[in-house]
Amino acid sequence: MTMEELTKEMEALEQPSFRAKQIYSWLHEKTVQDFDAMKNLPKTLRRDLAGRYVLFGAKKVQVQESKIDGTRKYLFALADGMVIESVWMKYHHGNSVCISSQVGCRMGCRFCASTIDGLERNLRPSEMLSQIYEIQKDTAERVSNVVIMGSGEPMDNYDHVIRFIRLLSAPGGQNISQRNITLSTCGIVPGIQKLAGENLAVTLALSLHAPNDAVRRELMPIARKYPLKEVLAACREYFLTTGRRVTFEYSLVKGVNDNRKEAAELAALLKGCQGHVNLIPVNPIKERNFVQSDRKAVEEFKNVLEKNGIHVTIRREMGRDIDGACGQLRKRFLDGSRGDDHEDH
Ligand code: SAH
Repeated sequence: MTMEELTKEMEALEQPSFRAKQIYSWLHEKTVQDFDAMKNLPKTLRRDLAGRYVLFGAKKVQVQESKIDGTRKYLFALADGMVIESVWMKYHHGNSVCISSQVGCRMGCRFCASTIDGLERNLRPSEMLSQIYEIQKDTAERVSNVVIMGSGEPMDNYDHVIRFIRLLSAPGGQNISQRNITLSTCGIVPGIQKLAGENLAVTLALSLHAPNDAVRRELMPIARKYPLKEVLAACREYFLTTGRRVTFEYSLVKGVNDNRKEAAELAALLKGCQGHVNLIPVNPIKERNFVQSDRKAVEEFKNVLEKNGIHVTIRREMGRDIDGACGQLRKRFLDGSRGDDHEDH
């Protein structure tokens, strides 16, 4: 609930309005997961609240810490026993958390581990917030950046994701600047258009991964529904409405989308688009035989884009040693508990 909703709720319970402020602060500033921990509420009210409402949080099940760069990957359990994963990354400009927006995913991108077992369900706004809150408590460090780039397609859980962004950036809670929140989508056009009208200052990231529809359709089933022309038009509209530059994510897969001709084609495609390209050497998953492009191919790809006036960055790989890529840890955990994953234990 937003502060306004909670205030109405307390009015309906004939509680003084300052109770709403107290409860909101316990939930979103002190981030407790239990009514009984709300020490400045009368005991009877705490009991009454616990009888009326459920707090849907995430509970830490496992943490893996990278020996290479300190990246931490968390596995959380939800109230119904489902598990999700999140990643904590330390950068010089602050700490960043990558959250999941769904349990599993139904988009079917070929290189992604999150989608192999399909979609279980959408996450609630509280379950998205809780990933950040629990990581903050566990690391005892503040999170300044949030990327919705974990498992799930945020546009496929649109209303909950928008509510999550509003709560995360609201004063009285974590108050994380919307400019430090990135929403990544595989390119669901109506979702991008709707987001442009929300009056939010979040960064939009588009998972592009191909310079044309033919290659894109091989990697991403969603490309059959929304051709690049429409997707890029929606991104342009997003920039024009919000003034926020779009990030184009491009995972480089050896022999699939990484040659110089494809780089030139990509440069032509993005000419005049206000944004920049983030190159990601694909993170190989054991269920698919995609191979990462060589360092040299990545550099060449970058050079061709730059020569054509496109701003490019190469994503620093983090957490390679701890199943860093989308959905890998959760998949391994589930496979392990089903007993059909013996090869790397
Ligand atoms: N569903 C959203 C957000 C989740 S994925 C989306 O599609 O954008 C976040 C990014 O990681 C996407 O660009 C996705 O395509 C990419 N990704 C997923 N698995 C990957 C892998 N194994 N290697 C490299 N990038 C991957």
